[in-house]
Amino acid sequence: MSVEREGRGAMLPAPGEDVVVEEIVLEPPGPGEVQVRILATGVCHTELHFKNRNGRGLPFPILLGHEGAGLVEDVGEGVEGLGPGDPVVVAWTVPCGECPPCLRGEPRRCWTWRPSRARIRRKRDGATVTPVLATGTFADRIVVPADAAVSVPAELPMAQACLIGCCVATGAGAVFNTTPVRPGSTVAVIGCGAVGLSAIQAARISGAGRIFAVDLHERKLDWAGELGATDLVDASRSDPVREIRRLTDRVGVDFAYEAVGLPATLDQAIRILSRTGTCTFIGVPEPDAEMAVNIGKFFFKRNTLTVCEGGDTSPAEDFPRYARMALEGELDLGRMVTRTVGLDDVEEAFRAMEAGEVIRSVILTGR
Ligand SMILES: [Zn+2]
Ligand SMILES: [Zn+2]
Repeated sequence: MSVEREGRGAMLPAPGEDVVVEEIVLEPPGPGEVQVRILATGVCHTELHFKNRNGRGLPFPILLGHEGAGLVEDVGEGVEGLGPGDPVVVAWTVPCGECPPCLRGEPRRCWTWRPSRARIRRKRDGATVTPVLATGTFADRIVVPADAAVSVPAELPMAQACLIGCCVATGAGAVFNTTPVRPGSTVAVIGCGAVGLSAIQAARISGAGRIFAVDLHERKLDWAGELGATDLVDASRSDPVREIRRLTDRVGVDFAYEAVGLPATLDQAIRILSRTGTCTFIGVPEPDAEMAVNIGKFFFKRNTLTVCEGGDTSPAEDFPRYARMALEGELDLGRMVTRTVGLDDVEEAFRAMEAGEVIRSVILTGR
C-alpha cells in the first residue's frame, strides 16, 4: 500500500540564496513510478551552476542533486522488475522512446529531456518543489519514473554506486559511447574533475597507448596519474598545446576530451589533435559562449568535433556494466569518493569543489 511519506531535502529557496535543508512531503509513486530511499548522492558541478545561474530557468524552490543511489522503497502501478529493497542508481536522462532517433533505433542519440513531475512539496508551506534534472537526489527519498531507477549489484557500496549516475556515465560514456577510443591510440583529457577522471579511467580500460591529463591543479593531476594517465600536463606552468605537441614529437593526439566547458580549453583540445584526430566536447559551456576556429587547419587535418551530452548513455545497459567494472576493480570508484558529508554540508561541499580539494564529495543521507 503506497502512502505519503516525509523526508528532508537540500534546496535553493530563491535566486541568490544559499542552500537550505527543509522538510519535504512526497506523494506516493504514480503508475510507472518508483520511490527511492536515497542513501548516497554525489555533489556535481552542475548543482553549483543551478545556484550561480539563478536556477537556470527552473521555478523555485529547487531541490538539488542528480547523482544518487539508494534502495527502492515503493513501486507504483504497473512497475515490473523492481521491488522494495532493490539497490538502484538514479538516471537523470533516459531515452524517451518517441523522438526521431529513439524511433529509428538510436536511443543513445535521444533528443528529449524528461519533464519533471510535481511529486514533492515543501512541508512548511506546501510549495511545489522542482527537482534538478527531474531527479533532485539531495533528499532522503524521491519519486522518479521506473526506468530512471536502474538496478545495480548490492555488493557495490552506495557511495561509489551513485557516481555512476552522472560523472561516470558522462566521462566514461564519452570514451566508450560517443567517440570510442581504439587500443593503442593517444588520448588527452583536459579538465581532471570527476568527469575527466572517469574519461581517463575509460581510456585506460580501452587500451589507450598514452593518456595525457591536463589541469591547473597539481592535486588533480596526481589523481589522474593514479587513475591511469601516463603524462601529466600542468597548464598553470606551461602552455598545454605546446607541451603536448612537444611530448608527441609534434604529432598530437588521436582523441582529445574537453571536460571544462570554456572556449579557451576547447580551443586547446582542437589544437592538440593529430591528423584525423577527434575532439569530444563534454564540458557544458555558457549558452552564449563563442570561439574562433582555424577551419583551414581543421579541414586539412581532417579533424572531427563532436559533442557529448551525459555520455550518450543508455542507463539500463550502461549502469550495470559500470557497476560490474567497479566490482572487478577495472573502474576505481572508491578512489573518486574523496570526502563523505551530510545533507547539511552542501555549501561546504561547493567550497571544497571550487577549491579543487576533492574529486567528489558524496552526501550520505542515511540516518
Ligand atoms: Zn528519444
Ligand atoms: Zn552531474
